[in-house]
Amino acid sequence: MTHLDPKAGIGTLAVHGGQSPDPTTGAVMTPIYQTSTYAQEALGQNKGYEYARTHNATRAALERNLASLEGAKHGLSYASGLAATNTLMQTLSAGDHVVCGQNTYGGTFRLFDKVWRRHGLEFTFVDATSVVEITGAFRPNTRFVFIETPTNPLMQLTDIAAVAKHARPRGIRVVVDNTFMTPYFQRPLELGADVAFHSVTKYLNGHSDMIGGALLLHDDALHEQLRFLQNAAGAVPGPMDCFLALRGTKTLAVRMQRHDENARELAAMLAEHPRVSRVFYPGLAEHPQHELAKRQASGFGGMISFIPGDGSLEAGRAVFDRFELFTRAESLGGVESLVCHPASMTHAAVPRERRLAMGFMDGLLRLSVGIEDVRDLRKDLEKALAAS
Ligand SMILES: *Cc1c(COP(=O)(O)O)cnc(C)c1O
Repeated sequence: MTHLDPKAGIGTLAVHGGQSPDPTTGAVMTPIYQTSTYAQEALGQNKGYEYARTHNATRAALERNLASLEGAKHGLSYASGLAATNTLMQTLSAGDHVVCGQNTYGGTFRLFDKVWRRHGLEFTFVDATSVVEITGAFRPNTRFVFIETPTNPLMQLTDIAAVAKHARPRGIRVVVDNTFMTPYFQRPLELGADVAFHSVTKYLNGHSDMIGGALLLHDDALHEQLRFLQNAAGAVPGPMDCFLALRGTKTLAVRMQRHDENARELAAMLAEHPRVSRVFYPGLAEHPQHELAKRQASGFGGMISFIPGDGSLEAGRAVFDRFELFTRAESLGGVESLVCHPASMTHAAVPRERRLAMGFMDGLLRLSVGIEDVRDLRKDLEKALAAS
């Protein structure tokens, strides 16, 4: 392993963390070990590699890199973000209880509500902007509290340190979905959380060209259990995807700086715009949790939601259909700017009444602000809004 000062900055860790020249050839970049199996020299003798569900050097390099970014002792990577969450649930047994934010990622809610409930796990979904609501849901059989901060698309926050302070003495593990902020801006483990979760698909990979997930943690016992399940249940990522994610993380620091810079400028512009009735961005002083956002994270990221005009579907559609540089698509966190209409796309399964009760109007639009020149993004946004 390249010798790295453990106090090295995150830009340095992104490039070097867990990386070393390939032992066979000295290749500077980790090769794509595209193999399912490994030769034995003699009966019972191998180089520590037997079968690629269990061991793959490209995957191991990615896991070490992601662990170094989150400042974690252990890292595990999975075939998708949901495969990572699924494996975490596989550590529980029927009768165990999980507390989760009600405004969590739709796929997480579906996995808990439609799959794991059927297998006897119990879930309570709460308003996770309130620490009192979260801790009030704790029971003797609660094992995990699963929080996503900020949430999608309303950009609501949870106070990670406050939740951890209440959960840890009770032996409840705190899991934080850190997908939106990335370790560049938010450090869940340093705030007292037990597990940092990522959809690697988003900012960590950053180029919209693979699907992956990760769990980063200090706890040796939980790591051992997860490592066993990674092999026993088999939700592993392929080596090519691990290589792509590793290539992506190298530029995490510079990408996140630019996403944040661009989003701050567009959020400020939207907040002033006469045809926008509301903007959801933790970096704006009018965001109800702006102080928490400043305390808990060192930046605000690239995600903005806003309500054009009167919030109707028509007002949203008029703007949505006029974008030219922003691509109309689901997902987020890539170098390219995307615009999404959550009510018909990512959140189509959420009942309308539930959406409206949260202030999530029919016409709400969500931007994943990319790293293009901000003046071009601004022009595109202004033109789209002029049509509303
Ligand atoms: C995309 C996403 C997930 C799920 O990850 P996949 O890689 O799509 O399985 C979970 N949480 C958040 C916040 C996400 O954006």
